[in-house]
Amino acid sequence: MFELSAEERRRSILESIAGFLGDKALEPEVYYESDWGSEEWTRGAYAASYDLGGLHRYGKDQLAPVGPIYWSCSDLAAEGYQHVDGAVRMGRGTAARIVAAADRAPAASS
Ligand SMILES: Cc1cc2nc3c(=O)[nH]c(=O)nc-3n(C[C@H](O)[C@H](O)[C@H](O)COP(=O)(O)OP(=O)(O)OC[C@H]3O[C@@H](n4cnc5c(N)ncnc54)[C@H](O)[C@@H]3O)c2cc1C
Repeated sequence: MFELSAEERRRSILESIAGFLGDKALEPEVYYESDWGSEEWTRGAYAASYDLGGLHRYGKDQLAPVGPIYWSCSDLAAEGYQHVDGAVRMGRGTAARIVAAADRAPAASS
């Protein structure tokens, strides 16, 4: 696919999607391509998981924030584990946890 020109690739991909969803898919509001294989750290791997016993050792800590840093990704999702819907669920859940923590925090004095 990456041997095609950018325009040929875009057309080929959108025509393929249009085969499922109809001609409206030929004119997306946003079009974004990502070459997973060129990602520096994952190199295109589908997802990440612990080695044997890793969940037992680290599982209880994997969702614990470190100071103001919260962790959120599909590899930590209970539902939708390692899939896009898990990433969305985790994003929403983590955003809600951050808002709740901010609501509990004492108001800054001026
Ligand atoms: C080849 C392939 C095929 C797949 N097919 C499917 C499928 O058909 N269906 C499905 O449901 N799931 C599929 N998946 C899995 C799905 O893509 C992932 O589960 C999902 O994208 C994970 O979302 P995420 O938000 O947790 O992480 P990511 O999508 O990996 O997002 C993390 C982001 O953080 C950025 N980032 C990393 N480090 C830093 C940093 N230090 N500073 C700033 N930004 C940083 C990265 O660039 C990336 O944009 C596939 C995955 C691959 C690789």
